[in-house]
Amino acid sequence: MTQRLLDLTAIITGGGRGIGAATARLFARHGARVMAVSRTESELQQTVNEIRDECGPDRAAYCIADVSDPGDVQRLFDETGQRFGPVDILVNNAGVAIVKPFDELTLDDWERTMAVNLRALFLCSQQAFRLMKDRGGCIIHISSLAGIRGTEKFAGMSAYVASKHGVIGLTESLSVEGRPHGIRVNCVAPGAVDTRMLREAAPHLKTETTPDDLAQTLLYLADPAQAAKITGAIVEVHSNA
Ligand code: NAP
Repeated sequence: MTQRLLDLTAIITGGGRGIGAATARLFARHGARVMAVSRTESELQQTVNEIRDECGPDRAAYCIADVSDPGDVQRLFDETGQRFGPVDILVNNAGVAIVKPFDELTLDDWERTMAVNLRALFLCSQQAFRLMKDRGGCIIHISSLAGIRGTEKFAGMSAYVASKHGVIGLTESLSVEGRPHGIRVNCVAPGAVDTRMLREAAPHLKTETTPDDLAQTLLYLADPAQAAKITGAIVEVHSNA
């Protein structure tokens, strides 16, 4: 197999399960050194152990962190730098979906959603920008088809939808600021993908799109040989099933 990300350092938030875990595995298979991040150690251990068994002991590590917390994010980038060197690829994938009718949504629900789905991207992308400004790099945000104007929306998802629209705006802004420094900033906006989030937040949605399918799209965007000229893209992933 070609090592399309050979010796690049990748931070993948939400790397314990779902789309993030699939991306961590695929990136490591292509030669990246992967730092997987989430709050649940058992899931991170599983992702990292699978990678180490398949790709070697030096290809993956994990960091238990809440990516909405500035101190945790600082520690994440410090630990990644010490272990693997400065980050080349940041995948801002961690997310939450709180489903409630709008009139029952609490301020805490709203703040929590914005903290994980949007503030964390500010915190992580800012750390990455500071490290990538002299050497270039790649940032990939995960929004959602729910974050695209005019797509079908589902009741109970107001905070999630608003946060994912914000992710698109942040991508467009950061791609402009990153261009002079060789920092590419792109976004993937998936429809339904078969993960725990989908099963809990929208069990009525059935899909044949798997986390591994999504990971292939992220690999393309991360691959400097394939996507060196691509920045500011919002890649919508509509299911053909
Ligand atoms: P998932 O299976 O629930 O995984 C979410 C990951 O994010 C978990 O590893 C979770 O780990 C982590 N996470 C959540 N809050 C965190 C925090 N504060 N700090 C660090 N990590 C945190 O969901 P998924 O479907 O793979 O979702 C991945 C991304 O795709 C999300 O941004 C989601 O909005 C987006 N997306 C998903 C779908 C879909 O149909 N599945 C569709 C469109 C977009 P811990 O809880 O252990 O921290």
